[in-house]
Formats: sequence, C-alpha cells, structure tokens
Amino acid sequence: MHTQHSNQKRDLFRERSGAELHINLSAIIENYLFLQKKVESARCSAVVKADAYGLGADRISKALAKAGCKNFFVAYLDEGIALRKILKKEFSIYVLHGLIGKHEKLFLDYNLIPILNTSEQIKQWYQFCLQNNVFYEAGIQLDSGMSRFGLDEKEIKDIPLAVWDAFKPKLIVSHLACADTPEHKENTQQLEQFKKLKNFLPNAPSSLAASSGIFLGKAWHFDMVRPGAALYGINPTPREKNPMRSVVTLLGKIIQIKTIHPKTFVGYGASYKAKQTTKIAIISVGYADGFFRSLSEKLYLVHEKFMHKPLPIIGRISMDSLFVDISSLPKDATKIGDKIELVGSFNTLDSIAHAANTIGYEILTSMGNRYYRIYK
Ligand SMILES: *Cc1c(COP(=O)(O)O)cnc(C)c1O
Repeated sequence: MHTQHSNQKRDLFRERSGAELHINLSAIIENYLFLQKKVESARCSAVVKADAYGLGADRISKALAKAGCKNFFVAYLDEGIALRKILKKEFSIYVLHGLIGKHEKLFLDYNLIPILNTSEQIKQWYQFCLQNNVFYEAGIQLDSGMSRFGLDEKEIKDIPLAVWDAFKPKLIVSHLACADTPEHKENTQQLEQFKKLKNFLPNAPSSLAASSGIFLGKAWHFDMVRPGAALYGINPTPREKNPMRSVVTLLGKIIQIKTIHPKTFVGYGASYKAKQTTKIAIISVGYADGFFRSLSEKLYLVHEKFMHKPLPIIGRISMDSLFVDISSLPKDATKIGDKIELVGSFNTLDSIAHAANTIGYEILTSMGNRYYRIYK
C-alpha cells in the first residue's frame, strides 16, 4: 500500500516536472567495466565528487560498488561522510581535499582516508596519530607539475624522516594537467616528475591517471586509476570518437505552442525576429537549470518523435524556458507535454560543451535540481 502510494506520488511529480533527466546506471557500470578491463592489473576506482558530477552520488556509488568498484574519491569531507552512510566499511573512501581544519576525528569516525596535500596537513595527521598511538591510513598527494594540490620536491625533502618511518602512505597521488591532449609534452614530464618524487617517499601504491590519463597508455596507470568524467559518458579522448557509452538524456517539455506572424520578435532583447509565419514551442528548461544562456541561437534540439528533424533554438534562453522553432514538424503533430531532447543522442554533453565554449564537465555539474530524475 505504502509503495503504491509513493509510486503515485512520484508519477504526479513526474507529470508536474518541467523536464526529465534520465540517468542510465547500466551505462555507467558498462563504462566502469570497460575502463577496468583497459587498465588490466591496475585498479579502477570511481570519482564521485560533486554528487557524482551532478548525477547522484548515492545511486551511482551503490551501483558501482555492486559492480565491483572498491575505491571511491570525493573532494570534501562532508561528501565522504554522506557517502559512508551508503558504502560499507570494506569500501575505501578517499577525500581529495585532505585535512582541512581540525577534523581528524571525523575521518576516523567515518572511516575516511584523507589525501594529505601539504606539509602542514601531514604534520597534523602525524601528531594526531602519535596522540592516539596508531598510524591511521592516509594518502599523500604530490605536485608533479600542475601547481594545484600536493607537495613539491622541496616540501617533500623537508618532511622529517621520522614521519615516513612512522606511517606508510596508503596511496600516493598526483594529477595530470594535459591528459586530454596526448601529444602535450607535459604528460611525459609529469610522469617522470611523479616517479622521481615518489622515490623520496616509502614505497606505496600510486595513482596518476584520471579519465583521459587512462588513454595515454600503461605507463600512466600505476596501481590505481581515478576516472570521473568518462564513467558519466564524457569523451576522455576529445580528438577521437567517444569510446564511452552515453549516460544522460535530458528531455524538456513543451509547455506552450504558438504561431507568430512575420516580423514578430521572440524573447528578451528582441534578439530574434521571425522572417515568416513561424510555429514556436516554449520548453520549460532555462539557464537556472544549467542550460546556459550562451547557448542561445547556437543549438538545434529534436522532438523525441522526430529525431531526424533538427529544430533551432531561437531568441535568448530565459531563466526557466527557451524557444524552439517547430515549423518544420508535420502540422498538428506536436502538443503540450511533448518532450524535446536537449541532451542525449542528438546533442551529446561534448557537443553542447563545444557550443557553449566549455567542457562536458561543466555542462554535467550545472544540471539543475528541478529536473525529475529517472534512473534506469
Ligand atoms: C576530479 C578528479 C579526478 C577525476 O577526473 P576526471 O577527469 O573527471 O576523470 C581524478 N583525480 C583528481 C585528483 C580529481 O580532482
């Protein structure tokens, strides 16, 4: 009875929503298994920071854990705490931002592994371990050339040897700056620098590659790879065909249809003026939903029943809506409530990103929370 009631409630939410975001969990798993196979003996982890790039860290982590993924990465401590409520103790959760503030105990309470990024963080963790007389697991990040997180050569050399005698890093991490550009010299330089810096530390499992780094070759794999974007269907090899399966489909609903006369303006700024009698549909997705205003008049969308007929976005994208010209669709074929595909097979995350002059990562992480989400 209860489930029936909540199903009815969900159906009503679905009906009232302006757009549906379909998230294909089996495609994420397929992507995970593909990457795990590709890196052979190295372990494939999953980066689920920022709510799994906006797609729902709880559902996705559960599914990945079931598929055999043992190691998870988040950025913030609180993301780790939330994830620990979903993943049992046997799954490792690494917190990339490491130890910020005096929250060592929370890492213990929730069994989270900090990635220590500075000598201060290392000292603080070391002191904490001494006080408790146990050397708790922690990862160390090294700066191999990106100048973001991690210790550089001088900082590493300044760490007292007693520290390394006392605790062995659980994982040594660094991050590549140019992995999506395979011919960039920085990729080999960072690889060499990472190997060099690792020599100053006790021998421990290491990890350098994220999504794109996996495709640079075996030398970059070490013991663990840390893909995020590729799991969610973003192309890790932007110059080549996307080897990953597409994961998200965003369908916006038509909430109004009207026919306008020649020379009628459409939208804010009167930036668009109809050349002829035009049939327009108003879709309930706008820039507040992460459909960037900069995409105005730059993209074609498709009606889910007429996938071969590209419909131009006309006028400026508003906060909660956008216009498409549906004049090319068969007469009387469209009605209120019909769905228009904004992201999916016609416009991929990567092609939209290209049109918006950004990367697929930003399109994904901007996806709004007003969408009705459907996991399959
Ligand atoms: C975000 C992040 C990743 C995942 O990167 P993708 O390019 O999304 O695969 C891996 N490692 C670190 C340190 C990160 O910050």
